[in-house]
Amino acid sequence: MNSMQFPRSVRCKECGGTGWITWYDENNYEVAKQCKCMEKIIYGRRIEFAQIPPIYADNRLSNFQLSVYEDKKTVQSACMLVKKYLDDFKKNSKKGMGLYIYSNMKGSGKTRLASSIANDLIERYYSVRFATCMEIFDEIRKTYDKSADYTESDVLNCITRCKVLVIDDFGVEFSNDWRNEKLYTIINSRYVNGLPTIYTSNFSVDNLRCDDRIKSRVIEKTLQIHFSEENIRRKLALENMQDIVNG
Ligand SMILES: [Zn+2]
Repeated sequence: MNSMQFPRSVRCKECGGTGWITWYDENNYEVAKQCKCMEKIIYGRRIEFAQIPPIYADNRLSNFQLSVYEDKKTVQSACMLVKKYLDDFKKNSKKGMGLYIYSNMKGSGKTRLASSIANDLIERYYSVRFATCMEIFDEIRKTYDKSADYTESDVLNCITRCKVLVIDDFGVEFSNDWRNEKLYTIINSRYVNGLPTIYTSNFSVDNLRCDDRIKSRVIEKTLQIHFSEENIRRKLALENMQDIVNG
């Protein structure tokens, strides 16, 4: 771990703000271990970097709401596959394997599931980036402005080098060559570097209308998981309302 500069306000009593606790062992050698405060700071930075919308901050696979679904079987088996994927994440990520979670129905809870996966991985100290396709395009486009603080390659580096990239709502936006080219750059870069990408989509891979080079990489490097075809947004809204009424 690199030494990090700590702002004065978060100086820790245990380590004095160095991030390391040192002591002498029985042979009088100085030994060191990372202080707990460092974990918290790193975790905070990971959360900040991931850019998961605050509404999804508490989502975890362990608290994924099954009760709102009529067809529990599909959701349960999807969650089981996700759990297995996460349990073996070290092995899977070494192979660059990600997930492709799809169902035609909007509002079925795919984003909730994907954000749960992202949060679970951040808790295990992986660097995760969460974004919709449109957000990625917007971030790149913003760099074309002369007053931009970042260059296009800054944005691409950030998206292509993080350990896990979650692309939410993949597949509605391949309307022009520019978009296809940018997505290909991102997906191919992650592909050649063996980094996993996790997608949610309203289209099965076969029905994606994108560049074949993108499609073939998605097929090769993801486990495809069919998710629920129920719209549970309404039900969740009702449950929230009941919560309020019942206090
Ligand atoms: Zn400390």
